[in-house]
Amino acid sequence: MKKYRKFGVLIILAGFSGFVQAQTDIELTKQTVDTNESASHIWFLASDELKGRDTGSPEIDIAAAYIAAQYRKYGVVPVTGAGSYFQTVPLEAITPPAKGTLQAGDFSFSIGENLVALQATDISGAYPVFISEYAMPEELSPENVQGKIIIAKAGKSGESNPRSFFGFSREKRRAAKENGAVALVELYSSTAIPWSMLLNFLNRKQLRLAENESETSEDDFGHVWIYDPENEFFTYLSDIKKTTAQIGLSSREKTSVKATNVVGMVAGTDPELKDEYILLSAHYDHIGYKTGTNGEDSIYNGARDNAIGVAAILSTAQGFGNNPPKRSILFLACTGEEKGLLGSRWFADNPPVALNKIVYNLNIDGGGYNDVTKVSIMGLHRTTAEKHLISAVHDFGLEPLADPAPEQNLFDRSDNVSFAARGIPAPTFSTGFTSFDEEIMKYYHQVTDGPESLDYDYLASYFLSYVLAVRRIANMEETPFWTKGDKYEEAGRQLYKMDK
Ligand SMILES: [Zn+2]
Repeated sequence: MKKYRKFGVLIILAGFSGFVQAQTDIELTKQTVDTNESASHIWFLASDELKGRDTGSPEIDIAAAYIAAQYRKYGVVPVTGAGSYFQTVPLEAITPPAKGTLQAGDFSFSIGENLVALQATDISGAYPVFISEYAMPEELSPENVQGKIIIAKAGKSGESNPRSFFGFSREKRRAAKENGAVALVELYSSTAIPWSMLLNFLNRKQLRLAENESETSEDDFGHVWIYDPENEFFTYLSDIKKTTAQIGLSSREKTSVKATNVVGMVAGTDPELKDEYILLSAHYDHIGYKTGTNGEDSIYNGARDNAIGVAAILSTAQGFGNNPPKRSILFLACTGEEKGLLGSRWFADNPPVALNKIVYNLNIDGGGYNDVTKVSIMGLHRTTAEKHLISAVHDFGLEPLADPAPEQNLFDRSDNVSFAARGIPAPTFSTGFTSFDEEIMKYYHQVTDGPESLDYDYLASYFLSYVLAVRRIANMEETPFWTKGDKYEEAGRQLYKMDK
């Protein structure tokens, strides 16, 4: 009996020390994070003076310098070989071709109106036409397309989703090029994505990574989409069979753009676990400002998207600088998220420590909130760190909510996916939103998303719960991983060379 009682005491003591530990973590978080300071980061980053932090703008570099200065202040150290907080992300800007026309019979098309270029090079003159309903790659041969303009409908027989057209388009272009065609002209008639939207999306200055996209960056072929809503042009060409078309196209202008990730680390305290890194990512770019408005607010301040996220990782830097957890922490304020997750993709391709030493990524991003009792976590149930995310949110009086809009596939639309796709368990921590309602759309990518419109009491709890969650995950005994059956589990097993 005595023995058992002793055991009981031990169990109670063990339970008690767990409780004390939990209390200490909460207290430590409260004592080390100054939430007024967290708020001040938002006021600075989302100020009008930074003009919406557009990637490639001079103002985003001021944001980068500010973030680096905070790292320095809080004890985050450089991790790049050069001893700098700045990781250069080489980008290039591509402008639409200045010239783009197509003319056949009574039909004429011009760029920015009813024609857009997917790839462009200098072409000018009249060429014979090869007309085919879809011009699938297997239909093309040098005998039928060499020296000709291929004209066909976009997409494929029986396929009505225009999003899928881009994939077919790439395959057709490859085959057209290989078989010596002069150009590929695809006719777009779908209403699922209105032509005007497509035009806005494709006929603008675009940013992309300067390397790594060799296939698309070649840009040595004429490939255009034209708008043929009633298939009139297609019918005309099919009826008269053989004809020529007049094409005029000019190359797209490319300029290199300098962009920067701001990167640093806090070394862990555990002799073994410190070789494992928890990556905290938040994009600090936003979408800039609009021109030509007469004295009206024209700056997209991006307070919610994503000054809040940057403030959260800076709060963690403040909490951890003098009180590091067992695992090491990597801080990544990344650029180019709004241009296609460019900064995080570059970081994943060029990590300052081996990618398989990064055992977890807690990204923080969000388009806004409509429920200040909640924290929305994309991928809440998808990793074995779930319990720590839940308890940390509860400990500051908030309620965790897993992906509230699964149809939007938000998990795969933020920087975390640059890491998740490589196998790193990577949820995204977001302010509380329950659905894409009016309250969200009032601020999402709007000039109204400024620092004066935020609820700082809520944000204080939000920041503290984030910092606490990171501490608990960084102190976990077992290494966090994907839950069984997750779509990225296999990628994780390969990355970390785990047994089946
Ligand atoms: Zn955004």
